[in-house]
Amino acid sequence: MKALGGDWAMLLLGGAPRARLFRSARALFAPALFALAASACATAQTPPPLSEGDLIASARAIHQRVITLDTHVDINPALFTAQHPNYTDRLATQVNLPKMDEGGLDAVFFSIYVGQGAQTAEGFARARAQDLEKFDAVHRLAEQIAPDRIEIAYSAADVTRIAAAGKKVALMGVENGYGLGIDLAAVKEFHDRGARYLSLAHNGHSQLSDSNTGERDGIWQWNGLSPLGRQVVAEANRLGIMLDISHPSKASNLQVMALSKAPVIASHSGVRAIANVSRNLEDEQLKALQKSGGVVQLVAFNGYVKVPPPDSPERAKALAALRQEFGFGAGGAGGPGGAMARMTPEQRAQFQGRMEALNKQFPPPPRANVKDFVDHIDYVVKLIGIDHVGISSDFDGGGGIDGFNDATEAPNVTIELVRRGYTEEQIAKMWSGNLLRVMRDVEKVAAQLQRNQASGNP
Ligand SMILES: [Zn+2]
Repeated sequence: MKALGGDWAMLLLGGAPRARLFRSARALFAPALFALAASACATAQTPPPLSEGDLIASARAIHQRVITLDTHVDINPALFTAQHPNYTDRLATQVNLPKMDEGGLDAVFFSIYVGQGAQTAEGFARARAQDLEKFDAVHRLAEQIAPDRIEIAYSAADVTRIAAAGKKVALMGVENGYGLGIDLAAVKEFHDRGARYLSLAHNGHSQLSDSNTGERDGIWQWNGLSPLGRQVVAEANRLGIMLDISHPSKASNLQVMALSKAPVIASHSGVRAIANVSRNLEDEQLKALQKSGGVVQLVAFNGYVKVPPPDSPERAKALAALRQEFGFGAGGAGGPGGAMARMTPEQRAQFQGRMEALNKQFPPPPRANVKDFVDHIDYVVKLIGIDHVGISSDFDGGGGIDGFNDATEAPNVTIELVRRGYTEEQIAKMWSGNLLRVMRDVEKVAAQLQRNQASGNP
């Protein structure tokens, strides 16, 4: 790996104007300045700083070399069919194969997402059917529609092998254990279909776990995990599924991290100390995650990166009316991600058109940008270290910020990381290395647990 020295990269913290000034000054007074610099910097051994153009070129080259992996992207199964338009077309969706190519995004965890509903036999059956539809969609894309362009990874080793072969990598993560119902055997069925991470709840309490949304009214169903949820944690450990703490409640997350025999991930979360929303992780949770050997995949979701000021009453009223018209529930009934994911392309286009008109009439507060996003990365690096930080988008499920609003803009994150002095080695860890390390550790723990079980020594 090319070493991008941390010391000289630190010089770039001052930003472009300073770098450019340094360079033009050097051009003017080159011989004298070089002699001076040689004596002054002999001990520091700092290479000369880059111009803005060189910095971007360097960052783009790094972006091409590292495996870039986004741990949370929602899908609409209707776009995963042989009929065009499908995911091989440059759709309006934030992620699809052409946009992944354009943005040098190598690997994606597709979200097998279902919104929380009633904890009844009918509710479980409906959720399970929706989950299976999404599993099938990913398999169809990788095995029938575009097997020459994308392949499913079932292990960390698969990810590196497929990426090295020049193909895109598809992985699957289950967002909400609701669809597992009360059938512990379903965990293995989901694993066999490709699930490699599992969140025990989404927005709204599930049969397995409380959700972060309990903070709204302080009403908790389980005070953390349910008895079945505890069994599912053990089963996920045994099978080699990463447990995902992005949506459940704080109590549940701390219980999962205490119980789990393998490292845990947050597939798409932010830092609560920066943006105080219940979906984000408090320092206590981040430290527990570090202790578990896990990774937090910081999410480029506007409302989790930066808490926006409240909408004007006029805007709030118009938004509520639009949400109602398009059947968006209030979180517990599915949340905007769910409603978006269920829309047909026509409905989605219609909704986006109406939303644009609304934004024109009642402008929204300024959105978070890539700098705001990387502030979350910096915070976590300082708190728990570079080995526990990753990147996610929540694209096509509500994610997106200025400058990283679809897969084509993924290089902008790398550019900002280089600007802040991160080395290629560190960036490689953040874009996939840490997550793949956790995935390998989870695989090892599963293999050990299965060996113990086989020898009658659980
Ligand atoms: Zn989510």
